[in-house]
Amino acid sequence: MARTVFDCARVPGKTCTLQIIGDKKDVLPAAKQHLVAAHGMKNTKQLDDNVTQVVDDHAKRYGTWV
Ligand SMILES: [Zn+2]
Repeated sequence: MARTVFDCARVPGKTCTLQIIGDKKDVLPAAKQHLVAAHGMKNTKQLDDNVTQVVDDHAKRYGTWV
């Protein structure tokens, strides 16, 4: 099962250091909930699209043990 990373530091204008790591289906809603609750963003389709674009594949970002 591939892990996905949401790094709030990649959100423009945010200096937040939160990262959320897990299965994509868990990371996307958790990231949106964080952006709305902690940063006052509006829960819109645009936010969905932006969050989906900013998540990374964990192995691609951090490498794998070989
Ligand atoms: Zn944040």
